[in-house]
Amino acid sequence: MTQPKTYIKATSVEHALSLAGESSGSFRYLAGGTDVMVNKFQGNDDAGLLIDISGIDALRQVSATETHLVIGALVCLEELAKHSAVAGNFPVLMEAANSVASPTIRKTATLGGNLLCGNRCSFYNQSAWWREAAGFCLKCSGPLCLASGGKKHCFSKFVSDMAVALISLRAGIEISDLRGVITIPLESIYSGDGINPSLLSNTAIIRAIHIPLHHDFRSVYKKLRKRETLDFTSLTTAISLDKTGMIRIVMGGVHAKPVITDGTGTEDLNSLVSQAVSATRMVDNDTYSRAYRKAMIPVFLDRSFRELQLI
Ligand SMILES: Cc1cc2nc3c(=O)[nH]c(=O)nc-3n(C[C@H](O)[C@H](O)[C@H](O)COP(=O)(O)OP(=O)(O)OC[C@H]3O[C@@H](n4cnc5c(N)ncnc54)[C@H](O)[C@@H]3O)c2cc1C
Ligand code: SF4
Repeated sequence: MTQPKTYIKATSVEHALSLAGESSGSFRYLAGGTDVMVNKFQGNDDAGLLIDISGIDALRQVSATETHLVIGALVCLEELAKHSAVAGNFPVLMEAANSVASPTIRKTATLGGNLLCGNRCSFYNQSAWWREAAGFCLKCSGPLCLASGGKKHCFSKFVSDMAVALISLRAGIEISDLRGVITIPLESIYSGDGINPSLLSNTAIIRAIHIPLHHDFRSVYKKLRKRETLDFTSLTTAISLDKTGMIRIVMGGVHAKPVITDGTGTEDLNSLVSQAVSATRMVDNDTYSRAYRKAMIPVFLDRSFRELQLI
């Protein structure tokens, strides 16, 4: 009897989509593999088939239209941070990319993979032995959430640093699936459910990110973590102010999805901070306490407003 394939390298988006459509069992796309492979080794991902999309050159381009900068999903974070069109137009993306993981990981980690990187929790991102000893939680088919003391909801943290910066810039995401190609606001793909954080169908392939040019954004990015390298976020904030005075605050690490607060640079900024804080949904599942992370939100936002010369 022939063994089912566990790894196939796709040669084009169409090829990857047809492999996904034909797959009878569970599968996962593999780009840089820096999230997928860790989850596999820890027993948190049991996909039977890996469809490797890393060789699809069409997803590796950076280009510009009259209105948007378009960054392919397979552009790696090291390249993104160094690209002149990114540095020239959106230094906040350079900063966000340089804050992800470590220099070695950023050589492999891709933009598309970052946007779908799994939510994290200190009770979940552990070896199978650890989780078995502690008791399996909801996210690994257990009966309840350990971090919240027994709630029937998963509060695993949204940790994609690139998504936080990109959403502040009103970026769109271009997706191909078996029905065709669409471009939608990036924030619309996130569910807020810690168990299934993405609303995309499992066959969908991210092709590119579209960032509007000509808004003259001024942005500030901040990230809280114990070490200045390797650590995932405990709180990420990105604030972008456009030329009309509209301000968008986006936070990561404080909910199962990115938290967005929109306003204007001339309104009461304290009220914007209160709105942002009250939209969070945190539990103690991080190296910092929930109380400390919550207390750091006004600190980061206040510092960012000062850097933007709003106060
Ligand atoms: C030690 C360590 C530290 C890290 N620190 C950070 C951090 O600080 N901040 C942070 O944001 N991340 C961090 N990461 C997570 C990860 O490295 C990054 O998010 C990285 O950008 C993921 O990209 P990848 O190409 O390796 O994704 P992969 O592992 O290949 O894929 C991740 C997910 O995205 C899906 N996917 C990938 N590309 C596509 C596509 N084009 N279309 C559809 N689905 C796709 C995969 O199926 C998978 O579900 C860290 C990882 C490690 C191991
Ligand atoms: S928040 Fe709760 S359910 Fe979700 S991964 Fe952590 S312990 Fe599990």
